[in-house]
Amino acid sequence: MIRTVTGKITPGELGRTLIHEHIICTSPDFQFAFPNWLPREKVVPIAVAKLRYLAEKFQLRTFIDATPISLGRDLGLLREVSEKSGVQIIASSGFYFYPCFTAICVPPETMARFIIDEINVENNGIHMLKCAVDAEGVTPVVRRYLETIALVHNETGLPVYMHTHSGNKTGLAAQEILAEKGVPPEKTVVGHVADCNSCDYALEILQRGCSISVDRINHKNVRNRIELLYRLLQQGFEKRIFVSCDHVCCWDNVMNQISVPNDDVESMGVIWQELFPGTAAKGIDFDIAERVMVQNVAALFE
Ligand SMILES: [Zn+2]
Repeated sequence: MIRTVTGKITPGELGRTLIHEHIICTSPDFQFAFPNWLPREKVVPIAVAKLRYLAEKFQLRTFIDATPISLGRDLGLLREVSEKSGVQIIASSGFYFYPCFTAICVPPETMARFIIDEINVENNGIHMLKCAVDAEGVTPVVRRYLETIALVHNETGLPVYMHTHSGNKTGLAAQEILAEKGVPPEKTVVGHVADCNSCDYALEILQRGCSISVDRINHKNVRNRIELLYRLLQQGFEKRIFVSCDHVCCWDNVMNQISVPNDDVESMGVIWQELFPGTAAKGIDFDIAERVMVQNVAALFE
């Protein structure tokens, strides 16, 4: 069974699923210090409207919230948005790549114990582990995060989504560490592989037996994403590809009038309106949406 913030479901109940999105992203220290930093009464209606739009227009059933604890994940907020929108939400635990005081002081074994305990709380809805390695690669603190996530995976079996920097191919070294520590490639999803506008990185990851997330898709880059997706499908990797936009429903702009690049939920329609039809038109004869958004996600969680 798969944990969601509103209860357990079977893989067959996932339906169309976006593998990596966010309800909020913010700094937990600002959230903690300033109760009005990202107020729930403003966030909930915005997020609910966006999820309802995706459900009604594109039959989205499940939204995997990739926000780790160090980017302000709020399980109660996710539950409220899920209940009001009718879209199932799977929460994540784990880390972004920024160093944090606790992670520098506390050993991975201790951090892992706390994360395992929160996963086991009924209705927390955590069924994805998050880790991140950015342009700088495996820094000492990123290594501690990876070791922690591997310990949690070894006890829970939960899949791991890894934010990576495609230009520097940083997912390769990080995936080796996860594998050394016991996370099998088939439970590892390497993200943001298409950002460098090249197939090479995605292919190297796929050839290791991991899955990839073709994400951050928008109107400007969709032609490149179509080309990349087509080439990977042509080479027989259709069972290990996921898609998403990496959209953030609300972040620090809500109160602070900061304009953000991906604030527009209608632009997420590019996945259904351009990516899938454009890829199919090049010569793919199966239902790409069904394969990558439904069957592949169900297989990852089985
Ligand atoms: Zn993200």
